[in-house]
Amino acid sequence: MKLCVFGAGYVGLVAAACFAESGNSVTAVDVDTRKIEGLKNGIVPIYEPGLKELVLRNQSEGRLCFTTDVPDAVANALICFIAVGTPPGEDGSADLQYVLEVARSIGRSMSGYRIIVDKSTVPVGTADRVRAAVQEELDRRGAAFEFDVVSNPEFLKEGAAIDDFMKPDRVVIGTDNVRTAEIMKELYEPFMRKNNRMIVMDIRSAEMTKYAANAMLATRISFMNQIANLCERMGADVAAVREGIGSDSRIGYDFLFPGPGYGGSCFPKDVKALIRTAEECRYDFLLLKAVEEVNERQKEILAEKLIRILGSPDEEQPLTGRTVACWGLAFKPRTDDMREAPSLTIIERLLAAGATVRAHDPEALKEAKKLFGERIEYSSNQYDILAGADALVIITDWNEYRTPDFDRIKATLKQPLVVDGRNLYKPDRMKSAGFRYIPLGRSGNG
Ligand code: NAD
Repeated sequence: MKLCVFGAGYVGLVAAACFAESGNSVTAVDVDTRKIEGLKNGIVPIYEPGLKELVLRNQSEGRLCFTTDVPDAVANALICFIAVGTPPGEDGSADLQYVLEVARSIGRSMSGYRIIVDKSTVPVGTADRVRAAVQEELDRRGAAFEFDVVSNPEFLKEGAAIDDFMKPDRVVIGTDNVRTAEIMKELYEPFMRKNNRMIVMDIRSAEMTKYAANAMLATRISFMNQIANLCERMGADVAAVREGIGSDSRIGYDFLFPGPGYGGSCFPKDVKALIRTAEECRYDFLLLKAVEEVNERQKEILAEKLIRILGSPDEEQPLTGRTVACWGLAFKPRTDDMREAPSLTIIERLLAAGATVRAHDPEALKEAKKLFGERIEYSSNQYDILAGADALVIITDWNEYRTPDFDRIKATLKQPLVVDGRNLYKPDRMKSAGFRYIPLGRSGNG
């Protein structure tokens, strides 16, 4: 099939490359001319495992191309995917300006029947607004082409995006048109394996499904973070509690790890947007408001622990003269994405408390430099930043932090203090290795 994908970001670029990989002819369109020029020259602007290889292969085999020219992209595409950003507006609702601009640009360019698929995460009712925007442009042109609008939310996870797209747990297709559903099923057929499902439903339910999924996952995280905080106060071990509850098949083990709060480009904005959607229909989504508040507090916890242990209580800036080494900046491992990352809150808090902050991340240093500039120090070597530091704080659970050289850490830090926001190490081993070890939700020796 001939497709075009608007937005060459985390979702659009992955979708474009994966659709091309299954034999389709795909044009990816973006307004960012630098991004498109780079892609034309084989420069993939984001880090996502396996993406570069997939883009280069499909590009060289002629199934994937890049453009900023909308009429060119829309000219031959039966299906036009919208995969542009939907950032939070000032009131927390999803800002649809980019989605609607794409819809209008398709309306201005289409020259026959098109299926317009919304892959961006958008509030219930957006398909109607996309339809109206396209129709308005067609009317302006005096053109009478038919089109369908489909909701096809994306569930991929950054860091495992290619795998998630190639082998999705499920594909949700929201449409009120049987023929369109068949075309979408045909497109996704190569990605369907024995145990995954294509779920066709009405458009509004499909739009809601994406928000409900992310809100449920965010709820699990905030719930477990509060259980962890309580464990800490009661002398219980959250790792044991997770084992205990996860074994219940109704609960399961996934998404029950405590941490420094959820971040990324999706959970924070989607939770906010669903709260806002509820408000618009005068429904008070109490639970989600609490999920969000718990998360905001959780992001402060690692800095608070450091201030409690290292701080001079009488000082306005209690960490003046202290140096903190941070392992991990990305909001999760295997990505360079720092949008809404807990590291942002933690580092800002440490800086405000007067600390000198040094940071390492395997992929996100470039992003971090854009955000913090010279306010913090960086190294691409995880051990270099430890020299003379008063503490090591672990923020992101990258694999390279799981079994580090503990002797080297101990020998390099000024004092052997490790505050672990991801519970990567065994408390008793850390203690016997001579560390002052502060995990989350379990007893350390701090
Ligand atoms: P992104 O910011 O990485 O990419 C968006 C791209 O759209 C940018 O390259 C931007 O230049 C481009 N763009 C903006 N206006 C455009 C226009 N008029 N025409 C063409 N391109 C345009 O965003 P993302 O992370 O890929 O997210 C896209 C959508 O998918 C969002 O709604 C998001 O909530 C949703 N989503 C994201 C993820 C994820 O893990 N990132 C997962 C599932 C769903």
